[in-house]
Amino acid sequence: MTNNPFESAKAQLAQAAKAANLDPNKVEQLKHPDRYVEVSIPVVMDSGEQKIFTGFRSQHNSARGPYKGGIRYHQDVNLDEVRALSFWMTFKNAVIDVPFGGGKGGIIVNPKELSEGELERLSRGYMKQMWRNFGPLVDVPAPDVNTNGQIMMWMRDEFEKQTGTTAPGVITGKAIENGGSHGRTEATGYGGGYVLREALNAGLVPTDRKTIAIQGFGNVATYLAEYVKEHGFKVVALSDSKGGVYNENGIDIALAEAHKKETRALAGLAGTSEITNEQLLELDVDVLVPAALENVLTAENAGKVKAKFILEMANGPTTPEADIIFAQNGVTVVPDILANSGGVCVSYFEWFQNQNNESWTKEDVLKKLDEHMIAAFEAVREAQTKYNTTMRTAAYIVASQRIIEKM
Ligand code: NAD
Repeated sequence: MTNNPFESAKAQLAQAAKAANLDPNKVEQLKHPDRYVEVSIPVVMDSGEQKIFTGFRSQHNSARGPYKGGIRYHQDVNLDEVRALSFWMTFKNAVIDVPFGGGKGGIIVNPKELSEGELERLSRGYMKQMWRNFGPLVDVPAPDVNTNGQIMMWMRDEFEKQTGTTAPGVITGKAIENGGSHGRTEATGYGGGYVLREALNAGLVPTDRKTIAIQGFGNVATYLAEYVKEHGFKVVALSDSKGGVYNENGIDIALAEAHKKETRALAGLAGTSEITNEQLLELDVDVLVPAALENVLTAENAGKVKAKFILEMANGPTTPEADIIFAQNGVTVVPDILANSGGVCVSYFEWFQNQNNESWTKEDVLKKLDEHMIAAFEAVREAQTKYNTTMRTAAYIVASQRIIEKM
């Protein structure tokens, strides 16, 4: 069994290579990131003591454009995870057809244990050690788990100090007043919603009850929930790291947000009963959306999943073993590299606006996002029919062909 994300990523590519008879030399090259860098970051803590943190950046492939991908702050960050995430970014950027390659970075740290000042010194320290690897036309980072617009601003500022340039396009996910784009906050959730709408129109989604269960209740889940409601779906279950809530008649999302803000948990939400994260994944619903973590759908629970349609909003939620079970059970899985690519699509729009000194309205951004999501969905569906395969393998085929052409 492989729960090593980098091994899962390579197994997914191998499936596509076999189905579409891809050039074996290019496929072998794609199994190896172009380079990865590990740095030591000295940070003076508030106590006056110095601590050394470890940071990474993996640059997977740049055939289609500058490396692009987020920077994660987490105590479990490790090289295999960073390499897998950079690999997925190469393919995601190719599926959504933005001119970027794939990169990813991280620091081993629990940011909740740092003061604001320590977090700033750590973020600037990462850029001080890494700036030679970054640049608007070289490698463009963004936020990921536990990083945000404020951290991006410190990093942009540090990059500009080190290089003596003005370079808003060196990083995306910035606050609007610091060169960010309208629509970036909504992009991933809405993008997933647009894909769900296309799948509905193509008759791929069971609509017996129009019920949907979402694991996670963060940025992505919130905007997806808002969008699907407009299309007549009922969100019957939601969860966070502490557990989930369920109401067969539908959960009021605004109420859930207010409750979570007040109590910092979903548990106890009026009109709902409590369920575990495991139970949520096995609910009898039309659509299941993992929108929290990697490796939640595995060989152990895939056979118990009752939903016939899965929209992967998290990165890497399904292991290759679970994928086989889903295919056998007739479950349609819309893969992460398609379903959650709306985020990086609008990151590209942000970069484009920075490089061209433009500012687009939210309406413009969401319209362009919708066009990209539709085109990506259609390309994947076409490949799925042509190669008679799953949507995941079809998405990898579309991406690989685009990348290999440029290699
Ligand atoms: P977030 O931090 O805003 O929300 C994550 C949610 O997951 C929170 O509600 C948290 O409580 C919940 N969670 C954490 N541990 C959990 C557990 N063990 N069980 C159940 N829930 C748990 O993050 P987000 O930006 O919404 O991202 C969610 C997922 O989508 C991640 O996998 C991320 O990599 C992926 N993603 C995000 C974006 C983006 O633009 N934000 C883009 C592409 C992919």
